[in-house]
Amino acid sequence: MLGAPASGKGTQSVVVAQKLGVPHISTGDIFRWNIANNTPIGTEAKKYIDKGMLVPDELTIQILKDRIEMEDCKDGFVLDGFPRTINQQESLDSMLAECKKSIDMAINLAVTDNEVIRRISGRRMCKCGKAYHIVTYPPKTAGICDLCNGELYTRKDDTVEVANTRLEAYKLQSEPIIAVYREKGILVDIDGHKPQDEVSEDVLNEIEKYSSKQGVV
Ligand code: AMP
Repeated sequence: MLGAPASGKGTQSVVVAQKLGVPHISTGDIFRWNIANNTPIGTEAKKYIDKGMLVPDELTIQILKDRIEMEDCKDGFVLDGFPRTINQQESLDSMLAECKKSIDMAINLAVTDNEVIRRISGRRMCKCGKAYHIVTYPPKTAGICDLCNGELYTRKDDTVEVANTRLEAYKLQSEPIIAVYREKGILVDIDGHKPQDEVSEDVLNEIEKYSSKQGVV
């Protein structure tokens, strides 16, 4: 799942992973878990995440490799927030080629820069993964998750200043990946401005089209 920060990658990846019955792998979530648990990986990653910068490739590629080698990934997975550099994309291809696998589909959730900043500045998260927006997608009870009653929080990197750095990093380092997958013929562009449910419908329709072409479904 490709797209700028707050383009809806997390939300849509959960929907796709549930639909396909495969794990949802978010490198951002893995880093946040490590930060919350004060691990050495967390200490290292925090230096970059808090500033809105990408965590260095060496560390990021290693945690991704460790994760996709786990047993639950043998029938596939949805990647959310990885790859984010051309180097990561190439490493991913090599890792998968080693076990005769490849990426089936890359989904690009397209949103404008203004929308990214607007979303980030109003985003509230729940630890269950559900994301809200204080104005356009508020929870039923302020500050409480509709799904699990958890207390909502603001991500430390969801400030306007950090958002601008994240957007810049996206444009410089991550956006070029879109052209690579387009070239491979596996990229699908989705309008990420629509309401969450409509974006999910568009994403699932594209997956269904792909699956019926492959004779999977
Ligand atoms: P996310 O939750 O996907 O928005 O990721 C939050 C932050 O974690 C990013 O702004 C980066 O600092 C870091 N991060 C997550 N995934 C990667 C990645 N593939 N490469 C480098 N840094 C990453």
